[in-house]
Amino acid sequence: MELDTKDVVVIGGGVVGTAILRQLSFYNLDIALVEKEPDLCEGASKANSGIIHTGFDAPPNTVEAECLERSRKIWPQLVEELKIPFIPCGAVMIATNEEDKEIIEQKYIPNAKENGVETEWLSEEAIKEMNPAITDKVIGGLSIPGEAICDPFTATRSYGELAVLNGAELYLGNGVEQIEKHAEGFKLILEDGSFIFTKYVVNAAGVYSDHIARLIGDNSFTIMARKGQFVLTEEPIEISQVILPVPTAKSKGKLVAPVVFGGFLLGPTAEDQDDKDDRSTTEEGIEEVLTECNKLIPGVSEYESIRQFAGVRAVCSTGDFVIRPSEVDQHMVHAAGIRSTGLSASPGIAEMVIENLETAGLTLVEKNTTMTEIPNLFSDEEEETGEIVCLCRSITRGEIERAIEGPIPPTTIDGVKRRTGATLGECQGNCCVPKILDLLNEHEKISDEPLKGLQQSYVTAGRN
Ligand SMILES: Cc1cc2nc3c(=O)[nH]c(=O)nc-3n(C[C@H](O)[C@H](O)[C@H](O)COP(=O)(O)OP(=O)(O)OC[C@H]3O[C@@H](n4cnc5c(N)ncnc54)[C@H](O)[C@@H]3O)c2cc1C
Repeated sequence: MELDTKDVVVIGGGVVGTAILRQLSFYNLDIALVEKEPDLCEGASKANSGIIHTGFDAPPNTVEAECLERSRKIWPQLVEELKIPFIPCGAVMIATNEEDKEIIEQKYIPNAKENGVETEWLSEEAIKEMNPAITDKVIGGLSIPGEAICDPFTATRSYGELAVLNGAELYLGNGVEQIEKHAEGFKLILEDGSFIFTKYVVNAAGVYSDHIARLIGDNSFTIMARKGQFVLTEEPIEISQVILPVPTAKSKGKLVAPVVFGGFLLGPTAEDQDDKDDRSTTEEGIEEVLTECNKLIPGVSEYESIRQFAGVRAVCSTGDFVIRPSEVDQHMVHAAGIRSTGLSASPGIAEMVIENLETAGLTLVEKNTTMTEIPNLFSDEEEETGEIVCLCRSITRGEIERAIEGPIPPTTIDGVKRRTGATLGECQGNCCVPKILDLLNEHEKISDEPLKGLQQSYVTAGRN
């Protein structure tokens, strides 16, 4: 069955794919996004530290550094327009010995300067004043005031929603299986056998972007999977900034960061693995997180955790983001290998992809009228006072129903979680999951896999 004929189709509904879709939606184009999972934000974009990095530590003169530089200028307006929960808390990379201090002075201060990012050396006293829980071993540290935390779920969803409100189409739960060359572009064949003709394709398929490139015979890069495990706690920790260690050669190291919707995140690990889909947590991984974070915040390893989870980074064989037309066919533009800073870099990546599409021959004419702001979920007059469904986060039935009827209706518990914050609290859904399932049923918005991640849980016992 032919679904449609499009100017551009984006493959992948993570923060990168949706940022590109939003940017495309400002032009007179027929556009769509294809995502193999039943909702947006099911890949790396849902399982990260939620930090908006400045790029102070990005290798200079890389595509990644350029995307981060562009993004720094865009974020302040974007958080307003897309209503993204965002806290400009800043970060501090702490030195606990002279060797750390030397690395900061010789590597990170000059690196930040070269990338145009403001930093400042802080004394031990200044760090302790802002972060009383910090280790007594701290001898000073590098403050990066431009770093912030945000809600990655809202960022991804709002990018997608704005694009949909501007006329973009979404195909969810139906991945691209094959790509055939066509006179004017490509024929994308989806999992259920349906197909879409399109003039241009943007490859934003995360860890599978090398696989998508291979479908047109492009072997120019390979993506390796690197898992990061996290621990989430709601215990009070007396810190007001993101606390960073001096990074290792492989990763930014294990940090302790406040979370925008409450609690603190500890982690992540950096474990190379063959399986691109393995997001399991392990005893050893969690132990490693707790041991390392305990060096930053003593006692944190004893705190009760409300959740442990993992995300998988897309590590590219080229060592940098791959944002360029395919060498095999320039009608495919890659947004691939977006490893550790894709959330932060997403607005800049989107700009760069659009420029690449234009260079590849796409005609861009701005629409006369487009929406640039996500409308309010509740109107000003409507104070939401209804029945509370999620007790931990005080989320009402009205809020959940409004999300279910939103521009991209959720069809799973996770989808409702990422739109409303329900189930994110201390009980992690023990009390509210059955009610949310009933609401999804009532609104006839339930998917084949509504309980993704909750199968065999007693919370959902007796339900299919
Ligand atoms: C542990 C960890 C910590 C991180 N911390 C931060 C941080 O603090 N700040 C920051 O800026 N970044 C961070 N990142 C990086 C950031 O999360 C990623 O760079 C970003 O989410 C990548 O987005 P994406 O859209 O490219 O990939 P994804 O979110 O993985 O999206 C790719 C999508 O493509 C879909 N897909 C794959 N194959 C197909 C197909 N055949 N057809 C259709 N769809 C397909 C997938 O289902 C997926 O939804 C972190 C990452 C990890 C793993």
